[in-house]
Amino acid sequence: MSAITDPPEIRPRRPLVVVSNREPYQHTRARDGSIQWSPTTGGVAVALDALMRERGGVWIAHGSGDADRDVVDEHDRVIVPPDHPGYTLRRLWLTEEEAKQYYEGFANEGLWPLCHEAHVRPIFRKPDWERYQQVNDRFADVIEGELPELAAPVFIQDYHLALVGGRLRRRQPGVKTAIFWHIPWPSADRLRICPWRREILAGLIGNDLIAFQLDRDRRNFLAAARESGFEVTRNTVRMGNRIVAVKAVPIGVDYDRIQRITQDPGLGAEQARLRQELGLDTPLIGIGVDRLDYTKGVLERLDALELLLERRADVRDRLTFVQVGVPSRSSLPSYVDVVEAIDRKVADINARHGSGRAIRYRKSSFRIKRLVALYRLANFCIVSSLHDGMNLVAKEFVAAREDEDGVLVLSEMAGAAQQLHDALLINPYDVEGFTSAIEEAIDMPRDERRRRMHAMRRIVAGRDIFGWASDILEGLEQLNPRALPPAPVVRPAERERLSVSRVRIPPGAQPS
Ligand code: UDP
Repeated sequence: MSAITDPPEIRPRRPLVVVSNREPYQHTRARDGSIQWSPTTGGVAVALDALMRERGGVWIAHGSGDADRDVVDEHDRVIVPPDHPGYTLRRLWLTEEEAKQYYEGFANEGLWPLCHEAHVRPIFRKPDWERYQQVNDRFADVIEGELPELAAPVFIQDYHLALVGGRLRRRQPGVKTAIFWHIPWPSADRLRICPWRREILAGLIGNDLIAFQLDRDRRNFLAAARESGFEVTRNTVRMGNRIVAVKAVPIGVDYDRIQRITQDPGLGAEQARLRQELGLDTPLIGIGVDRLDYTKGVLERLDALELLLERRADVRDRLTFVQVGVPSRSSLPSYVDVVEAIDRKVADINARHGSGRAIRYRKSSFRIKRLVALYRLANFCIVSSLHDGMNLVAKEFVAAREDEDGVLVLSEMAGAAQQLHDALLINPYDVEGFTSAIEEAIDMPRDERRRRMHAMRRIVAGRDIFGWASDILEGLEQLNPRALPPAPVVRPAERERLSVSRVRIPPGAQPS
């Protein structure tokens, strides 16, 4: 008797709408006049791009490349990835003034320091706020025009777009939106600094799902909502007859991609190049990899390294510390100040200690393969953020260490410290304790390094960037399970196939 089995269920997959300030692909004009394109680097863009390729739909973002306008159609749309068309990128144009006030001003001089406790005064200017509202409105308009169907899940990215969910709902009450807030959410007391906190809260509560990195952020948000008069439960906020889910969904890294890079036969050659370029010939190598942002605690790290060099004569000539610093937001005075202070401090340490080259400082951005090579060269990696939503460098360092070696020295003020308990946790404000932790990293026996790294790798592997994206989409879709099918998880085989690291050069346009 042959068994009769049901045919596999075929579930329709709804197209997605992703909304972010930064676009996933940018077109630029080269010196010879040709148009080139490049994918946005970073795990979040890679994960959302993979989901978009799989589901189809539209990604709405600010077109910031100097050749972006040359490749769109009359509706400002271009099909991407350029070499493997899979979904629509709908570009939205901002004038210089708009970008300055909405992005640099309100988002980066106001909300960023408001949400990070790093002692830089948040600056809130009324014209910036007005522009922020206008630009968020424009994003909402464009989403409304692009929605493939009302039930299409809309995934909004980050603090630049706090009002978009609410503004869109005014136009289309039936939309399904989720926002992920990548940065910390401040305590209710600190939030009071923002003159327009109520409007921002209400804008966020206009979504169906609000996701944060940590439980602390979720609790802070609910406390602020309660204080503003909203009805709040442990993980919801009520607005009229709508219930809004509030969750913590910590972000992860593209673990499988990093494993593939660690197994790439070219990695050894990349490491040799790095050793040569950076002049790395000491037995001990420490590293730090950061955007040049005042939240990252680079000055505090340099203070601790200086104390180490003073304290430990035996380490002085055996240690090189490599600091990669990616220039960022360089038009803002608070960033210029911290970059200048780091320059001075590095010069000072190098003048006073060791062979004059204790700190190798590279002010540039490394591609992921180079970063993995660097992660693998290090005896220890320092992440010393004064405050940080998660810190992906900490997780990438762990993901890269399939040799189960290397020590992570991690600030307890970084979100990653909530998960990576086997790092050496430090307080960046305590220079003595911080220095002792670096000593402990240097002196740690191999067995203990292996045990700690093994435990951290399990955690980082268990929650990768694809799990993060799926959790948010599933969370959104489960809010109304009859209306929407569950979101698919992108499986490793699909990820391999979809990885943007495999982009090819199409005729007429080249990845830069
Ligand atoms: N990064 C990079 N090249 C560099 C330095 C950093 O691609 O030279 C990437 C790094 O791999 C990580 C991201 O930038 O994925 C930094 O993320 P993190 O959460 O650590 O800090 P953020 O810059 O988002 O505040």
